[in-house]
Amino acid sequence: MVHYKSTMVEPIDLPSRGDRERALEEAGYNVFNLDAEDVFIDLLTDSGTGTMSEDQWAALLRGDESYAGSKSFRRLEAAVDDVMGFPHVVPAHQGRGAENVLYGTLLEEGDVALNNTHFDTTRAHVANQGADPIDCPVEVATDPGAPGDFKGDFSIERGREVVEEVGTDRVPVVIQTITNNSAAGQPVSVENTRRVAEFADEIDATFVIDACRFAENAYFVTEREAEYAEASVADVAREQLGYADALVMSGKKDGLSNVGGFVATQDEALADRCKQRAILYEGFPTYGGMAGRDMEALAVGLREAVEEAYVADRIEGIRTLASLLEDRDVPVYTPTGGHAVYLDAEAVFPHLESSDFPGQVLVCELYREGGVRGVELGSFAFPGTDRPELVRLAVPRRTYHREHFEHVADAAAAVLERADEATGLEIKREPEVPELRHFTAELEPSSR
Ligand SMILES: *Cc1c(COP(=O)(O)O)cnc(C)c1O
Repeated sequence: MVHYKSTMVEPIDLPSRGDRERALEEAGYNVFNLDAEDVFIDLLTDSGTGTMSEDQWAALLRGDESYAGSKSFRRLEAAVDDVMGFPHVVPAHQGRGAENVLYGTLLEEGDVALNNTHFDTTRAHVANQGADPIDCPVEVATDPGAPGDFKGDFSIERGREVVEEVGTDRVPVVIQTITNNSAAGQPVSVENTRRVAEFADEIDATFVIDACRFAENAYFVTEREAEYAEASVADVAREQLGYADALVMSGKKDGLSNVGGFVATQDEALADRCKQRAILYEGFPTYGGMAGRDMEALAVGLREAVEEAYVADRIEGIRTLASLLEDRDVPVYTPTGGHAVYLDAEAVFPHLESSDFPGQVLVCELYREGGVRGVELGSFAFPGTDRPELVRLAVPRRTYHREHFEHVADAAAAVLERADEATGLEIKREPEVPELRHFTAELEPSSR
């Protein structure tokens, strides 16, 4: 396991209970509206919020800001080829920029895209092309207590059903998201990737891997898939990604960077088509919305992400948080996935209905109790769907340590202790697009 010492520090402060109470009220009981300064432990997301290494900081100084043919781009290209095995790279400002470039190139009005589970920006970009995003998760994915080594897998059976219904011509793209972010960060086996690649081949579709957490996924594979028990994380990552025709990547995840992303492909013709769209939306194809220095940090981050010691520490950190919570009887989604611990709000507040937004109540209580910021992924974030009422505590990379996790677990235990006193929330103000309401809506304690 890797060990770190801090060579740069950022002081954090737990505001007083009265100040937290006031901040929560002013934020309309929506923690997206809180100032980061008022948050003690920020587990809102693991996206772009991690700590860079000394080598990444050093690489920043080497940034070549040439508009065309930047040396920094060449170094990024080399890293993507070495670590992921893809020779053609089209950079973008972040993952969703890469999604726009790739899905805008591959999809047309009336098409269908299959995915184990579409991440929200993926779903939105597929829909933005006039195509229909259809999820094909395995059944256990949405069961917070069900055992399973690879609950993130793509259900080929479900995929075939859809293809039979709509016809192969309408399905030009099959996507596999590793780990499956929207299914509690659960991993996907290499065996499943291989079978999805065959399935995509059969129906003549482009097989895309959403590779945001490819290194975390590879770590689970070395632990759980017998065939890879002796393999290194780096080898598994290259093999698994190698089954795809193209990748979309967010540098803010397993790129260990604060910004950036890219499309990568084996197919030069596809890369050329992507570059045309990238010029329109992202930038010239040797920077794509990133500064040269950002490409340097990302190139180093990709190599660090597959180092055994780094990724072991990463996954063990998530497990430490989960087990501290379980020690205090806080109900968590099991087994724990790659980047976050998910709390089961229905089990915390059995007396609340889903219309009371139990997940959002739990998010607010965690802030009120400990200045901890998580995010609701239940009936508040996904109106009109029948999802479990989960709260995600996403862990930024290389940022928090055991004492922070103990604080989070203690705060959750205190919430649990007086859970029966909690009352529901109702929406006071929400934006026009209900799918985006959890970012900006305001709530208030319900009058019922
Ligand atoms: C974060 C994420 C994206 C989008 O990346 P951004 O850098 O946030 O735009 C796409 N897919 C998955 C699975 C992600 O986790």
